[in-house]
Amino acid sequence: MKQVELIFGITISKIQSLDGDVNYTNKKYLITDDIGTKYILKSFPDENEWILAKEESIVLDKIGNRLSFKVPQNIRLPDGSMFFEYENDKSKLLAHIEGRFIADVPHSEELLFSLGEKIAELDISLQAIESPVLSSRILFWDIQNTHLSLPKIVFIGEAERRKLIQYYIDRFITFVLPVQHLLRHSIIHGDLNDYNILVDGDCISGFLDFGDATYSPMVNDLAIAITYLMLNKQNPFEVILPIIKGYQKHISLTKFEVELLPELISSRLCISLCNSAEKKHLGQDNDYVLISEKPAWDLLELWSRTNPIEIQNYFLEAANFREDENVAENEILKIRSRVSGKSLGLSYEEPIHMTSALFQYMFDNKGNSYLDCYNNIPHVGHCHPAISRVISNQIRTLNTNTRYLTDAFNRCSERLLEYFPKQLTKIFYLNSGSEASDLAIRIARTITRRKTVAVLEHGYHGNTSTGIEISSYKFDGKGGNGIGSNILKLPLPNLFKGKFISAKEYARHAINSLEQLPEKPCAFVAEPISGCGGQVPLAEGYLQILYEYFAANGIIAISDEVQTGFGRLGNWFWGFEMHNVTPDIVVLGKPMGNGHPVAAVITTAEIAEKFSNGMEFFSSFGGNTVSCEVVSSVLEVIETESLQKNAKLVGKYFKDELHILKDKFPIIADVRGEGLFLGIEFYTNSGQPDKLTANLIKNKLKEKLILTGTDGPFDNVIKIKPPLCFTKDNVDSFIDKIEDILRNNKPSA
Ligand code: PMP
Repeated sequence: MKQVELIFGITISKIQSLDGDVNYTNKKYLITDDIGTKYILKSFPDENEWILAKEESIVLDKIGNRLSFKVPQNIRLPDGSMFFEYENDKSKLLAHIEGRFIADVPHSEELLFSLGEKIAELDISLQAIESPVLSSRILFWDIQNTHLSLPKIVFIGEAERRKLIQYYIDRFITFVLPVQHLLRHSIIHGDLNDYNILVDGDCISGFLDFGDATYSPMVNDLAIAITYLMLNKQNPFEVILPIIKGYQKHISLTKFEVELLPELISSRLCISLCNSAEKKHLGQDNDYVLISEKPAWDLLELWSRTNPIEIQNYFLEAANFREDENVAENEILKIRSRVSGKSLGLSYEEPIHMTSALFQYMFDNKGNSYLDCYNNIPHVGHCHPAISRVISNQIRTLNTNTRYLTDAFNRCSERLLEYFPKQLTKIFYLNSGSEASDLAIRIARTITRRKTVAVLEHGYHGNTSTGIEISSYKFDGKGGNGIGSNILKLPLPNLFKGKFISAKEYARHAINSLEQLPEKPCAFVAEPISGCGGQVPLAEGYLQILYEYFAANGIIAISDEVQTGFGRLGNWFWGFEMHNVTPDIVVLGKPMGNGHPVAAVITTAEIAEKFSNGMEFFSSFGGNTVSCEVVSSVLEVIETESLQKNAKLVGKYFKDELHILKDKFPIIADVRGEGLFLGIEFYTNSGQPDKLTANLIKNKLKEKLILTGTDGPFDNVIKIKPPLCFTKDNVDSFIDKIEDILRNNKPSA
């Protein structure tokens, strides 16, 4: 340091090394001289960093004295130059700027307004700068290069979190990357994090560290500052208005810039989190790298739970762009009624107009964010990035049918069949659960040359003609034609207020009914837990007795796993495993494609062989390349995110909490189900099925932004079957809200 003393004519009394961004090799020291004046010494072992530092100093020299706040200024050498050699490295000495970091002080509205103003002032001054050196940098920290962080996702240990980052980087690639060139560009600061902003009272007094200055969309400076100011806040959205108002005092934002701000903020969070993960992996983490990690995760998680319309409205409102959309709410309903028939049902007395969804949340057009406790089709979560990606990639590569050989078909089939008992080795793909049920019955009828199908009361298996024929839920329900001559309906083996009190009695009764038929049925079809029956697990032991009888009598046992399959039940991957039986045919649907229409029939080699009677089996879309890749991806996600285990743990917690609730509120007559496939049954004080209460609760839960549904023969059962990424916190929020409703509503008499 002698050399520094000599050059600048100071006597150094203290030297403190400062932590910096480990992505750079430059060294940074805080120096105090004998009269207490502080300086920053920066030296640059790397030639490129030095070139950039030189450019940065030139830029700051140009704008520095025209600003109403401080920015780093080089202290010139006696000969007027700005750099010198220190320990063989090019170095510069900067005047230390006094002040407190904005990270360390409370954020009053005045302060945030001042921040907006000063960012605008800085941006205006930088607009006048031209710098080919800074313009040619490609910086991963720069929001316009968010996609460069994608390869770092592997360093994020938790699958849940990888999913979140993948989702938001995908959003950047899809919604920002193709249009960002249309934004106003200039040299920007590039790193207005809360440790680069200095305050004096309610005013911004300086901006530090222009080391990330680059040519980028100007709005990125604002986005970065807002990102860091939102961290560690009870209500992060409150900071938006004063900052934007302050900024707009000097620079008018375009609507396009404002609309992109939420994406730019989530992008910056992703960059920061990928960087922390990488540095931790490389053992290069320090306080500087990790300081914003936890709050950044909190903010990104909050982002994912919040309706994008609500988020965007904070920005639009702050920038005075929000217009009240006067689209008549019932216009959508009117069009729908005009273009389709009344039989197309809607949930809720007042239907919801959904506009987007993410993981276990759904978002409506009014900005509401719902917790989805009901939709089991997005099994691994709404809009899961792995699924979106695979669809998008495969549809750009090949999407063809099963008349050609494809790797996707083989890969998916081999992988899926691994989940089944060894007898079940053959697969046929279709597009819906209904088609799969239909094919299952067709196979049974073809190979047995018999027509009758045994079904359970209240069962539902599909919307095709055969689907309706075998679904008591439909043929016995409103508008149904009653039972067909080819159908034998057996009582649902329900141990809660059912016809019999044991599995054996139900089974005996079933076998008696079967024995009385003039000809044995070709098949028996049932769900392991009856969904439309009101989430009723078939009495334990029932299927075992019946399946033995079926085997002895050439009756094909079909398990409909459309609702219960793919790990939802927690302890078992398939519902039939819960009953310790192996079906001859398994029907798959819904969760299999996470919303992409794909379904399948799984069966034995013997049945598949007998079904090959010369007639080709072909489905235009069944088993297409995209669908197969989707199914492989769903299985992959179930494994990597341990979703079956999650269904087990969270499902048990959910059921336990519901049991506690049942003890408090006698109108809850039964709580049942497995994993994340649960039902709550309501009875009145006088012992009648309580449809009124179940429906009231369903609608009140909707008002409290929780989605459920009701079902069962009396429509008095609330069904719970959320995406499997459901958490214990989600359970708590469900329990709090339903408890509140139960407390404040009089039970029916
Ligand atoms: N089986 C069961 C048990 C179902 O719940 C459903 C759909 N609710 C189906 C079959 C029919 O599936 P899809 O709607 O895909 O045709």
